Amino acid sequence: MLDNISLLISNRQLFLSHVAQTSPNPLLLEIERAEGVYLFDVNGKRYLDLISGISVSNIGHCHPAVVKAVQEQAAKFMHLLVYGEYVYAPQVLLAKALSAQLPSSLDNVYLVNSGSEATEGAIKLTKRYTGRREIISFKNGYHGSSTGSLSLMGDEYFKAPFRPLMPGTTQIRYGVEADLECITNETAAVFFEPVQAESGITIPTNNYVTLLRKKCDEVGALLVFDEIQTGFGRTGKLFCFQHYGVVPDVLLLAKGMGGGMPIGAFIAAKKIMHCLTEDPVLGHITTFGGHPVTAAAALANLQVLTESDLISRAEAKGKLFDDGLDLSKVKAYRRIGLMMAMEFDNFETNKKIIDECISQGVITDWFLFASHCLRIGPPLTISDEQIKTACAIINTSILKHIG
Ligand code: PMP
Repeated sequence: MLDNISLLISNRQLFLSHVAQTSPNPLLLEIERAEGVYLFDVNGKRYLDLISGISVSNIGHCHPAVVKAVQEQAAKFMHLLVYGEYVYAPQVLLAKALSAQLPSSLDNVYLVNSGSEATEGAIKLTKRYTGRREIISFKNGYHGSSTGSLSLMGDEYFKAPFRPLMPGTTQIRYGVEADLECITNETAAVFFEPVQAESGITIPTNNYVTLLRKKCDEVGALLVFDEIQTGFGRTGKLFCFQHYGVVPDVLLLAKGMGGGMPIGAFIAAKKIMHCLTEDPVLGHITTFGGHPVTAAAALANLQVLTESDLISRAEAKGKLFDDGLDLSKVKAYRRIGLMMAMEFDNFETNKKIIDECISQGVITDWFLFASHCLRIGPPLTISDEQIKTACAIINTSILKHIG
């Protein structure tokens, strides 16, 4: 009887009634399945995904290697005990495989569940290691939505209603050399996105990143790179820091790490990470961090990325977007690898273009701190033909709404 009644209520109505809402205007697409660069809704309509679930599905949706790894591990064992007690093969192999791709100073991996948790872990780690209390981050920076990570956010609109937040944080201007003077011998760590994503893709100069590294070294502050959005091939390198020839002390990962499964990590040198082992013991605790199934998925994801030409081809595919997009009506266009922003006059215009694209079967979005910019960040698996189709649809949508 109950089942019959609930069948009459659409999933859309149930979503609106019973699932916590974070926006007055959710997109409300009801997706039945996803494969590669496509999502398919319950009516069979196909959408080309140009945002990869916000930098998550870098190797495409439901990649067979990830699906296989998840299925095989789920059938062996899932959760057994909180993080850090039992030896799980997928976790160990993942940590080893990540270390193998990183400089030798980034050899110790703490696996967590999300980007926010990676940030939280790194806040605790850097304070504990340096014995300092102050954290510097950047205006328009995003590091997560939990209280600690929100404290590092560089936007008052999203922060103010939740104060008091964590004390001892300062946000300096991104890319402005003069502001590096705020980094002092009181600073425990500087949390930096090597390309700032939610400001609408802000790409710093090599020189700025080098100066930032130098300043941190001078005052003994740890440099934390948040590569939660830039990692796993998104910028045309496995990790974005590889563009600059600068190595961070701590690396934050999540999003594209799990091939669609929820996993994150903070990575540092063993001697730094050791301060979570004693005094207090269990310096960071997580029940599900390093879950065997998500770790297996992340290992498969990393293998796909490192054993294919997906990353080496990202720049050429990005250039196809440069050539295919009609840039005559945009205020600015920024791109690194397959991470792009098209800037319009205001949110209203941008939103009309986004909605038009979605109605024509291409999913794009805006940025958290740049609602006037159109987000383009497709799976790295997108083909040249699909890029041409995407550009054509974006161009027609722009033409329709800007003329
Ligand atoms: N840092 C950056 C740069 C991000 O883009 C995000 C997510 N948008 C986070 C941290 C937080 O990740 P999560 O949503 O998994 O907590």
